[in-house]
This record gives sequence, C-alpha cells and structure tokens, in this order.
Amino acid sequence: MTCSPPSAPLPKPDAAPRSADRQYPALVLPPAPPAILIRLRTDTAMSLQLQVNVAQLLKDAVGATRTFEVDGPELESDDGSPACVQGKLRLTRTDRGVWVSGSVTFSSDYVCSRCLAPFASWGEAKVDDVFLPNVDIATGAKLRYHDDGSGADLNSIDEQHVLDLTDTLRQYRLAAIPMAPVCREDCKGICPECGTNLNEVACSCERYQDQRWTVLRELLE
Ligand SMILES: [Zn+2]
Ligand SMILES: [Zn+2]
Repeated sequence: MTCSPPSAPLPKPDAAPRSADRQYPALVLPPAPPAILIRLRTDTAMSLQLQVNVAQLLKDAVGATRTFEVDGPELESDDGSPACVQGKLRLTRTDRGVWVSGSVTFSSDYVCSRCLAPFASWGEAKVDDVFLPNVDIATGAKLRYHDDGSGADLNSIDEQHVLDLTDTLRQYRLAAIPMAPVCREDCKGICPECGTNLNEVACSCERYQDQRWTVLRELLE
C-alpha cells in the first residue's frame, strides 16, 4: 500500500467499474497540526522512525512539553499488514518521566468480512502512555522502578535518552483493527447461494428476492 496523506482520496479497491451507489466510509480526519517543534520523517516509505531524543525535555522543568509529529511511516504489524500512521503527539515532562498523549490515525487495507472486497480505511487511536528514563539525566545513575510497584512493563527511555514509540504505536494499531471490518455499514455481502456480490447487482436466487415479488409471482401462477 502507499502511504498517502489523509487528505488524499481513499484508493479504490480495484479497477473494476462500480455501480453508482457504491460508497466508501466517511473519512473523519483530525484538524491540521499547528507549529511543529520536532518533526521526524522517514526517507523511504518502508522504514520507520518513531524514536525521539528527549534528553533536553528531561532537563526541563515538570510541565514542559514538546510536540512530536508522526507523519507517514509504515507500521508493520504482527500479521504482516502494513499501516500508515499519522498524528500529533504531545510529550510532557512529568516528575518521573515523559507523558505521551494525543491521537494518531492508522490507515490500513482490509478485506470486507461481508462481501470480501478489499478497501482502505482509517482508524483513530488515543495515545496515553508514560515513559520512564532508565538513567537519571543529571547524574547518569541507573534508575529502577520495578521495586516500587509502578510496574516493570512501563515504557522506558533508553540510556541514550531515546524514547521509542514503535512498539507502543504498534500495540495501538493492533487494538484499532476491527474484528470484522466492513467496507460500508450497509454492505449487502455476497449471496451464499451463487456468490454474487449483492452490492454490485441483485442475484436471481429465490430466497434472496424481495418478498413482494414472491407474492406477485404466486398470484400469477
Ligand atoms: Zn462489503
Ligand atoms: Zn444468489
């Protein structure tokens, strides 16, 4: 898939002609981001740069913030399907580490669970995570959090003061994948008798015909 910006039209699933009433899911996009303080961009679509050095932020006073724009890298999921991730995250210095908050959108290619047509769609995730430093920014001393009940599984900032969002965003993306994706709310699916895509054309299978026609036909017979 290509990593086009959210403002671009959704790619059509395939080149086949569609009936006029075919509609794609409405695109709800976040407003344009304001001024960017930190901006990372990948050189190639397939590489992923979701790491930010927060050394200066850790030296700042509690409450200091940075804005981190995630713009277009492809996020490879465990299932192998790529997704573009875009959004704007706020990095806030807390008394213990860095609080990452904001929202990101994931664009993904899906296969409709009703009609089996491929389609592209966007999902949004609210990010709310705290990252704790492994070393004290002032003294260089190693920091341990596991003993005080704050959780060994908390995201950590490495010894080079790099905060890596890759795994975090991958988890959010996995959570945003719908269990049964549908190309549109009123997708009619495929006829289980003949396999016709009922969004494209009505099939002639008896049990799926309009009941009113059935009544008419019985009157005629
Ligand atoms: Zn469908
Ligand atoms: Zn049919």
